[in-house]
Amino acid sequence: EVKRGGKNGYRFYSPELDEELLFKIEIEADLRKAIERGELEVYYQPQYRMPDRQLIGIEALLRWKHPVRGMIPPDRFIPIAEETGIIMEIGRWVLREACLQTKIWHDAGQTKVPVSVNLSTQQFHQPDLEFEIERILVETGLDPQYLELEITESMMMDAALSIAIMNRLKRLGIRLSLDDFGTGYSSLSYLSMLPISRLKIDRSFVMRLEESGNERAIVTTIIAMAYSLGMDVIAEGIETEGQLEILTEQRCLEFQGYYFSRPVPPGDLFAGDADLSLGMTAEPPTASSADA
Ligand code: C2E
Ligand code: MG
Ligand code: MG
Ligand code: MG
Repeated sequence: EVKRGGKNGYRFYSPELDEELLFKIEIEADLRKAIERGELEVYYQPQYRMPDRQLIGIEALLRWKHPVRGMIPPDRFIPIAEETGIIMEIGRWVLREACLQTKIWHDAGQTKVPVSVNLSTQQFHQPDLEFEIERILVETGLDPQYLELEITESMMMDAALSIAIMNRLKRLGIRLSLDDFGTGYSSLSYLSMLPISRLKIDRSFVMRLEESGNERAIVTTIIAMAYSLGMDVIAEGIETEGQLEILTEQRCLEFQGYYFSRPVPPGDLFAGDADLSLGMTAEPPTASSADA
């Protein structure tokens, strides 16, 4: 089989390819058992509104503690779960888990904020998705206004179809946000037709904000566009005071990133300080975050 190689053009065989294939086969087999073995966990990362650093939401982020390989970052196994269809079961599990946990926090008297759950491409196109979500909301008792689903531009291959799916989801009374905004190829003209409450500025722009004027221009434009469309805008991947300052100057008010908190296990989110003290670092850097 001919595979497109690295910089040298094409290659027919390479040990790395073998390794990658083996990894996939192993991971696929292990993933099928991961849920029942209790190896999956949901971590939560807080979102804040400035200038008063008010907690406005939390994002649910999947973690897999593999018995042999240790913590495997989602960027590594979610694509495999998508390819093999296992993502449907995993996605359902995450949704239920996040809704259940959020309901527990609400019942315990914590500040009521919505939980954001990432949707996969396959889930997005699942014909009975809205019924499944409705069932999960009823079973967990979470008020629909406290669930936000994160969708990416790359899921929306067909504009009309995507708008129809989103409108069906919106009828449940939940919110929708557009994740990783700016990295996809959605046309600006149909952005205004999407029933989206919030744009999430991708971390790749935030990362280069302090060095690059181009990044600043892009981010300025995204923020202005969001507001003119009546959407909120949140910047993800805030790591420095400088990034926060630049974005605040551009009138961005909502933030999520290591500067405030890493994703943490549910027990740590409201631990100690009820208004979520800054600088919690419960999660060590993973391979995926370290290479960024
Ligand atoms: P995402 O939805 O864009 O989530 C944000 C990612 O950025 C998370 O990585 C988060 O830990 C990381 N992050 C947040 N703040 C910072 C920061 O200041 N610096 C750096 N370097 N990274 C930051 P994570 O948890 O590894 O997840 C990666 C991606 O995997 C997510 O990107 C999302 O696309 C996907 N994912 C995670 N959980 C789920 C899930 O339950 N279902 C699906 N379908 N996808 C998920
Ligand atoms: Mg997300
Ligand atoms: Mg994102
Ligand atoms: Mg992402």
